[in-house]
Amino acid sequence: MDLNASVETLKGVGPKTAEILKKAGIRTVRDFFYNLPRDYENFQAATSISELRPGKVVVKGKIENLTSRRAKKRNLSIIEGLVRDETGAVKVVWFNQSYRLRQFAPDKEYLFSGTFEFKNGRFQLTSPSSALYTDVDLRSGLAPIYVAHGGLKSNDFRRFLNSARDKFAEIPDLLPTVKSGVRREALFYAHFPNSEKSIAGAREYLAYEELFELILAAKLNRRENEKLRATPVKFDAGKIRDFVAKLPFKLTNAQRRAAWEIFQDMEKNTPMNRLLQGDVGSGKTMVAALAAYEAFLSGGQVAILAPTAILASQHYEGIGPLLGGFGVKTALLTGATKKKPELKKMIASGEVNVVVGTHALLTDNTEFSNLTLVVIDEQHRFGVEQRQKLTLKSPKDKAPHLLAMTATPIPRSLQLTIFGDLDVSILDELPKGRQPIETKILPEIELSEKLYPEILKTVKAGQQVYWICKAIEDGAGGDNSGTNKADITSVKARTKRLQELFPKLKIELLHGKMKPLEKDEVMGRFSEGKIDILVSTTVVEVGVDVPNATLMIIENAEGYGLAQLHQLRGRVGRGSVKSDCFLLTSGDATPSRRLKELEKSSDGFHLAEVDLKMRGPGEIYGALQHGALDLRIASLSDTKLIQKAQKDAENFLKLGPGMLQYKELMDGISKYQQITTLN
Ligand code: ADP
Ligand code: MG
Repeated sequence: MDLNASVETLKGVGPKTAEILKKAGIRTVRDFFYNLPRDYENFQAATSISELRPGKVVVKGKIENLTSRRAKKRNLSIIEGLVRDETGAVKVVWFNQSYRLRQFAPDKEYLFSGTFEFKNGRFQLTSPSSALYTDVDLRSGLAPIYVAHGGLKSNDFRRFLNSARDKFAEIPDLLPTVKSGVRREALFYAHFPNSEKSIAGAREYLAYEELFELILAAKLNRRENEKLRATPVKFDAGKIRDFVAKLPFKLTNAQRRAAWEIFQDMEKNTPMNRLLQGDVGSGKTMVAALAAYEAFLSGGQVAILAPTAILASQHYEGIGPLLGGFGVKTALLTGATKKKPELKKMIASGEVNVVVGTHALLTDNTEFSNLTLVVIDEQHRFGVEQRQKLTLKSPKDKAPHLLAMTATPIPRSLQLTIFGDLDVSILDELPKGRQPIETKILPEIELSEKLYPEILKTVKAGQQVYWICKAIEDGAGGDNSGTNKADITSVKARTKRLQELFPKLKIELLHGKMKPLEKDEVMGRFSEGKIDILVSTTVVEVGVDVPNATLMIIENAEGYGLAQLHQLRGRVGRGSVKSDCFLLTSGDATPSRRLKELEKSSDGFHLAEVDLKMRGPGEIYGALQHGALDLRIASLSDTKLIQKAQKDAENFLKLGPGMLQYKELMDGISKYQQITTLN
């Protein structure tokens, strides 16, 4: 069977479905089989409707009289109907699931699993999950649940898979380290479990397969990096000491340690491939400046890349003057730069030593005369392709040393497996004198009572406020996280409201759709303290440094991931004054565990670990790499399995060129290879 064939070759998958699947990253038959259930529902032991007791129940029946209506409150759509079996009928209710109206055939039997409870004067079945009776394994009662994609729900996935059932037998083996047939069996039972045990077996194999591929990719990367040549940069102890002595502050021990690790890497004639991880505010930029100075001393050029123009100019303003004091000529090159041709000439001739820029540095054909070090801030914002382009810009036959920086901590457990072969430096210490950020969850209802006085107090004290909104304009929505579009207040609407409320304050807005120049100007005014409240989208998420901002309000906080909230919060607490962060939740729902964790802890590493446990590695890594690496199941706490995969991958490497006969495996890991490598 050709696993690379398009999903459209599967029965029941037409062009429209294929289009939706494609958007979800499911393009081939392989992708389709590897789109594993996110969970399983147990429909075992259905109760007759006449015998239902309050609590979790399963019933089997046909659906009648489905209708939908709108609740006046909070823009909710309510779907109601009856489930009937031979013994009676029970009311069924769903909220905001209008697809239910189209899901059920009147003559077919379905299983429903949900809560049977007394509400509004009668008993009802509330928000049950459902499955076509014939889709559920009779012995186990288990039905897989899939992540919904653009209108395709679990029952659709089950239907497609059912018609592809006989194809599973044709799935070829992948790994030379397990018995023939194990892979096809695992994939089959993942979708058609006949017992809990069959699911466990399937997961174990698939987790092993995934770990094996990841670890193999990392090992191959390391080998390839070691084959490359770089210009060694000699460590100049005296000059570095002078530089450090002139800094306005003392380096933290963590900064010293990281710089030392970087200097040692750069002395080698193989390119450095190091990731500098440090929580927000830990001072990564200074470490980068030290590395840049060192490269300059050896006659090399340095490119420092930032994900946004705002950030690039901040870096430029932050380290330009500092480096300038030591004879380093620094330049800023972004989309908004004027006199670009002249500047590029100076870069090509080597007159400019350090170039700070955005993507523009890569897409414009900027030539360097002796590019020795590349620093990439918030590395996950850059695609693999862009990194490769940069390598092409270095002197002939030489790859630049590469330092990637990120504030999104990679949980240690993930690091050991996936990044086992990547060099990592960690800044686990904040500069002295930093005040903690006090974080509080606040239901929006208490806005005026609690928050408005806080804002006034902050501004009166001469400090500044960030107010983060999810959308730019009203009705634009923002996400699919369950927040209702109508509940989201946009940057524009919020700005207007705040201006009405606080007519004397200077309130401005910032969002990603503004022109780069405009954004820079607003950010500039905010930095200079000319704006009291900056209402913004997450464009301020990454790296922006305004120490005088001490209050952050994040509206619709439930709509963000834990890592992102932590990043956002890190925009305050950068000065010597205590800062506050308010997480606004809409409505009366109890705050999620995510928000509660954030309230409790300000340690990025701890939060990353929590996030990993709550969401699984796929999404964490997804945040790092836009989902390019989709870790589906690998259990990172299973050290035994990891050790086995490590040993097996090591042995497999000994095959050398013989590895190439495992074509599917080698093709497959090139995807991972691109991600774990930094160049
Ligand atoms: P991040 O790691 O989030 O990128 P930055 O590099 O932006 O952090 O540093 C945050 C702030 O801390 C900057 O204003 C920087 O000048 C300052 N800083 C960096 N190192 C130190 C230090 N050792 N002591 C005091 N302040 C420092
Ligand atoms: Mg930074």
